[in-house]
Amino acid sequence: MPATCKSPLETLILGSGPAGLTAAIYSARARCCPLVIHGRQPGGQLTTTTVIENYPGFVEGIDGGELMARMQQQAERFGTQFLEGEVSRVELTKTPFRIWLDEECYQTKTLIISTGASPKMLGLPNEWELYGRGVSVCATCDGFFFKEKDIVVVGGGDTAMEEASFLARFARRVTVVHRRDELRASPPLQKRAMDNKKIGFRWNSQVVAIHGDQQRGVHGVRLRDVHSGAEEDFSCDGLFIAIGHTPNTELFKGQLHMDQDGYLLTKNGCETNIPGVFAAGDVQDPNFRQAITAAGSGCMAAMLAERYLDTLGED
Ligand code: NAP
Repeated sequence: MPATCKSPLETLILGSGPAGLTAAIYSARARCCPLVIHGRQPGGQLTTTTVIENYPGFVEGIDGGELMARMQQQAERFGTQFLEGEVSRVELTKTPFRIWLDEECYQTKTLIISTGASPKMLGLPNEWELYGRGVSVCATCDGFFFKEKDIVVVGGGDTAMEEASFLARFARRVTVVHRRDELRASPPLQKRAMDNKKIGFRWNSQVVAIHGDQQRGVHGVRLRDVHSGAEEDFSCDGLFIAIGHTPNTELFKGQLHMDQDGYLLTKNGCETNIPGVFAAGDVQDPNFRQAITAAGSGCMAAMLAERYLDTLGED
């Protein structure tokens, strides 16, 4: 455990996206000595996005990775400690709460869960086998490898439009495959993709198979028309899946209340069903899922945790 943290900790924060880091900034400034545990993707989903144009204060936009690096520096400036690792188990039925990081157990008086959400996959049998060999969920990470290639992007939301527009910088041709004939994406992102001559659309279609192997990578997909059921093979070198996210709440099943999709249920902003346990960001937000809303809820969670600590008094 970092030397400056007491056991039990005042506040432990799981996750280091905008929710977790904002919680850390507020919590550290309030002298709650937060410890942030981040997993395999420090900074969260924003580190895989391109320019963020709608985060207030950045007139020309800011790179997602840079925004998260700045938030981390700001949290560190006020004394936040960071640890990397996979949390394997949590025990929230007794106080202090217990969190196992690999084999080590951490105790904390308050817990802020900001574990975010992970990209959904199509559920096709070989998608993981071909992951990193033509199948991707992150244009910013992998787009560079598809110079002058043909790419399929699946999905009709903001992410799919962003990915398609970004990939069009490198690719010869980008084809968006969407299961309806109408996009879910916001009008400006729709327009940007539709105005791009390199981007085409296949409406009312689903990817039902990926053609490829580990040696050659992806070399095509099978498309099915959702109305007629007609299938056709479509040649491509890459498949970018952008069909939404699943909340990272597996650890908390049976302990915290969730909705049918696994999002943590909260009241008063960020309170879970267990006093002292708070949730912030995408892990409890199926609706807005923006960097700024995640940051806002991180702030709320930290303030609620601070007030809760006050009710406990001095040990
Ligand atoms: P989303 O809005 O949930 O869109 C997911 C898309 O994937 C939908 O078009 C959906 O089709 C399709 N889809 C879902 N499951 C599918 C399946 N099994 N097979 C084929 N298609 C499937 O997710 P998102 O685009 O990741 O966006 C998530 C949130 O982040 C949104 O609130 C969005 O506004 C926000 N976001 C904002 C920005 C930005 O402002 N710059 C950028 C990225 C994301 P249907 O439409 O038919 O349901």
